[in-house]
Amino acid sequence: MSCDDKVKIRCPACTRIFRERASRVRDGAEVNCLNCNKLIVLTKETDDSFLRRALKAAREIRAAKDAAVHAATYSGAASASKRETP
Ligand SMILES: [Zn+2]
Repeated sequence: MSCDDKVKIRCPACTRIFRERASRVRDGAEVNCLNCNKLIVLTKETDDSFLRRALKAAREIRAAKDAAVHAATYSGAASASKRETP
């Protein structure tokens, strides 16, 4: 899962697509285009539907990761207290 935590961002300047970590793609964040090095401000108020989509995808990835961490923590605690044998 850790290798799949990147979202695609379409640069508004050169229109090429690059990938950025979901943890860095959040409202108000700034990233540099890997192709033309333009500073891209990520805000959900942007008119750029590609950037809005990237923000949404990043939020979903972070939520999924949080859920996975919680599930792992919970199942670990549950199995430790239950001691079920197969
Ligand atoms: Zn660019």
